[in-house]
Amino acid sequence: MKLVIATRNRKKMEEIRRILALPENDPFSLDDFPGCPEVVEDGLTFTENADKKALAVARFTNLPALADDSGLVVDGLDGAPGVFSARYAGDEASDAQNVAKLLDELAARPQAPRSARFECVLSLADPNGRTAHFTGTVEGRIADQPMGHNGFGYDPIFIPLGHDLTFALMPAADKDAMSHRGRALAALAKNIHKFFDPNNNLVP
Ligand code: IMP
Repeated sequence: MKLVIATRNRKKMEEIRRILALPENDPFSLDDFPGCPEVVEDGLTFTENADKKALAVARFTNLPALADDSGLVVDGLDGAPGVFSARYAGDEASDAQNVAKLLDELAARPQAPRSARFECVLSLADPNGRTAHFTGTVEGRIADQPMGHNGFGYDPIFIPLGHDLTFALMPAADKDAMSHRGRALAALAKNIHKFFDPNNNLVP
């Protein structure tokens, strides 16, 4: 079965391949479809954005497509950055700029709780417009300062519940075992056959 992973984020692609134990050239990535239009991620929820990306790519490639939309939800910032995680400090912001802005915003609210969670919604879509969703969450807290260089995005400031290290200080396998994306991908791996089974109408 051929599947297109609908992301241009190389770090996400790496994680998806690693967690699903996919070989280098199977499935397809968006790099294999250079003409695929860019999707505007203007949805108000992770699910809306994941669906937009998966459906656009499935229709363009005429193949089933898998998209991830994910982000960090910080309680002390009323849920920000949430769906704006990738562009919290501006459209072209780097990971370091997004992290710096988040720490500044929390520093401006010293009483605010630092509890937070990463959320991930995976949308699996077929070219006929059918979708299924798989979700994963990991609870944690925001560190006082960035620590570590592994991973991407907000990994240097996210300490998962029950741990002392940020994701960026952990080996990739440890992050994968507990991360929002790891959990959503585990649910996908368990259920993906149902999506393609013509006798099974279950759409999670
Ligand atoms: P998306 O590509 O629109 O889904 O944006 C996701 C953004 O959320 C990324 O650019 C990161 O800033 C953040 N994010 C999502 N997953 C992770 C993760 O596993 N670690 C760190 N940051 C993440």
